[in-house]
Amino acid sequence: MAATVIDGKAFAAKVRGQVAEHVARLKAEHGITPGLAVVLVGEDPASQVYVRNKGKQTVEVGMNSIEHKLEATTSQDDLLALIAKLNADPSVHGILCQLPVPDHIDGDTIINAIDPAKDVDGFHISNVGLLGTGQDAMVPCTPLGCLMMLRDHHGSLSGMNAVVIGRSNIVGKPMANLLLGDSCTVTIAHSRTADLPAVVRGADIVVAAVGRPQMVPGDWIKPGATVIDVGINRIDKPEGGTRLVGDVDYDSCAEVAGAITPVPGGVGPMTIACLLANTVTACCRANGLDAPQGLTA
Ligand code: NAD
Repeated sequence: MAATVIDGKAFAAKVRGQVAEHVARLKAEHGITPGLAVVLVGEDPASQVYVRNKGKQTVEVGMNSIEHKLEATTSQDDLLALIAKLNADPSVHGILCQLPVPDHIDGDTIINAIDPAKDVDGFHISNVGLLGTGQDAMVPCTPLGCLMMLRDHHGSLSGMNAVVIGRSNIVGKPMANLLLGDSCTVTIAHSRTADLPAVVRGADIVVAAVGRPQMVPGDWIKPGATVIDVGINRIDKPEGGTRLVGDVDYDSCAEVAGAITPVPGGVGPMTIACLLANTVTACCRANGLDAPQGLTA
């Protein structure tokens, strides 16, 4: 039987709708407009596209979008000074510095200079610690989006075997912590994992975050399992041109899985939706209000 396709595009639109409702309520009842500041250093074309999309969607849900586009030659000290200014600005509730930053700037130093309460990417070491100890944290957007889709599809995840392929700080590790928080039995697999196919075959939930096109074939998937494909890879088409594929081989996995996210249109759209959700959460917390239900981990 063919897998249920988890429609990330539609789900992201729903999340953005919920965010917009909360923003409208914050404005009407408290006179507060959430503000998201995005800092881009240099002219990386992919980063420019991301930043443009973020800005557009921020405005669409009724929030203020503040963009700082800095020259590639900007010094680390100047960038730190801007972060300090944004930290101190009460109209800014979320701060995101688009990664990667140029080589002469240390990304970790910049991330850890952001006020953790405004760290809507969830990369600050304090947020990593809060998530790891099961406390209220700003949660990285891509894993948060995966968790939301899994909860929506399954209801409870308690007791399920989850395998996360990839151990990066931005996807794999926080994803594993979130699944643990929802009482899954979690395995983190990586490039040195012995017999990866056997590990994946034991999973009720597979989250693939590797960056290798179509690496996971259908015969690694337990029948009925849920497959969340985080990968975004561009490959050549036989007839010329390119197309986007994930880290799983969609056609063979969809024949075996119970549910699967497509690429494009799965995890990707959820990432910006969760960034907006995190900004509303940060704004509520900064003003002593409860974070919106359903938009946090
Ligand atoms: P990364 O390169 O930081 O980490 C990749 C991980 O995969 C590493 O931990 C590595 O151990 C593991 N790995 C590499 N080869 C492997 C192998 N043969 N077997 C098992 N594990 C292996 O990548 P990342 O930043 O976590 O991103 C992973 C993928 O997700 C990329 O395709 C990226 O473009 C995509 N991504 C998508 C979104 C989104 O919004 N949808 C967001 C972030 C990343």
